[in-house]
Amino acid sequence: MKKTIATIILLIFCLPIFAQSNTSETYILLKPDRIFDGERMHAAWWVLIKGNHIEAVGEATTIKVPANAKVIDLKGATLMPGLIEGHSHLFLHPYNETSWNEQVLTESRAERTARAVNHARATLMAGFTTVRDLGTEGAAYDDVGLKTAINKGIIAGPRMLVATRAIVATGSYGPKSEVAEAEIIKGGEEADGIDGITKVVRSQIGHGADVVKIYVDYHWGLNSTAAPTFTEEELKVAVQVAKSSGRMVAVHSSTTEGMRRAIAAGVTTIEHGNGGTPELFKLMKEKGIALCPTLNATESILSYSGWKKGTDPEPAAVKQKHYIFTEALKAGVAICMGGDVGVFAHGDNAQEMILMAEYGMKPLDVLRSATSVNAAVFALKELGNIKAGYLADLVAVEGNPVEDMKVLKKMRLVVKDGVVVKE
Ligand SMILES: [Zn+2]
Repeated sequence: MKKTIATIILLIFCLPIFAQSNTSETYILLKPDRIFDGERMHAAWWVLIKGNHIEAVGEATTIKVPANAKVIDLKGATLMPGLIEGHSHLFLHPYNETSWNEQVLTESRAERTARAVNHARATLMAGFTTVRDLGTEGAAYDDVGLKTAINKGIIAGPRMLVATRAIVATGSYGPKSEVAEAEIIKGGEEADGIDGITKVVRSQIGHGADVVKIYVDYHWGLNSTAAPTFTEEELKVAVQVAKSSGRMVAVHSSTTEGMRRAIAAGVTTIEHGNGGTPELFKLMKEKGIALCPTLNATESILSYSGWKKGTDPEPAAVKQKHYIFTEALKAGVAICMGGDVGVFAHGDNAQEMILMAEYGMKPLDVLRSATSVNAAVFALKELGNIKAGYLADLVAVEGNPVEDMKVLKKMRLVVKDGVVVKE
């Protein structure tokens, strides 16, 4: 009996929070100091939500407010579209807690899922109402189930685009063992040749992948240097198969030759891009391929091995990130906001945005990158902008992020699908 009452109480308190969608006809009026609508900043604008969508947005005087509307006063705050994380791994946690190898080899699927549930909630509460999750790294297709659990309202979390297992060339990816007979779990699904990669792309799509993730290079060169994995022909076929199903292709690349092949194959986004050159960025711009620079992954990994930012000299990897980011901006390449979160803590997603500004991007462009640009690159309908008819994914921060990017770490309000999940 006690258990039943506890369950009922839990349901009463949890359901509205986790509810997938606000399908009711209720109105919510949001009154911030200013609104960033995905493109521009507007002073003294308001937003009216009806059910799960935006009913009206504009100057306060132009909005007809129904008498029964719930009013949320956001004095001092900036309202923005729900932020979109472009590169997450909800099934990983920071490598200074447990190394990637140890996570893949020693944590059970149940443990990894339990962690992912916490990570999903932390992501949503940090104002990231959508994530593109680029691979479970050994946790099979569990991202598909996690997404389903969120969509059913069982747990709190962002909208998810999932990549499932991701695709790696045989022998290129970890974890590795020198014991040839040892059958150990891999962090990605191996594939080879035109037929092989075709089959794996189709299989992952069949298992629920929204995005096809391919490692076009990895540290399998001599002395563990990064070297290309798949041939240009293999990549071209993989992209053709993925795109014919309407899906985007995201590639991990940290070498110049890997990037060149990926660009020739016509992928959607290049992750990391450490081998970028002015010529390659010019090609990316021409072909409409976006760069997801993952600045904070690089800085985090270096800090785990002892680098003290601001005190120690800048390591070569950080200098290289500055270089490629500057060149990509110069070439006008679309910049996808994605930090490779999982390498660092889920919920700290905004650190990538802070670094993008620090590395030379205009603050307003950083906000666009995490909203309207990511929505366009990922072909997300009715997200990334505050427009009448769009889905009511909205967040508010204290102060003005254009003047101080750090305020992005302090979410005051989070609304997902018309449901206030944090106030
Ligand atoms: Zn990643």
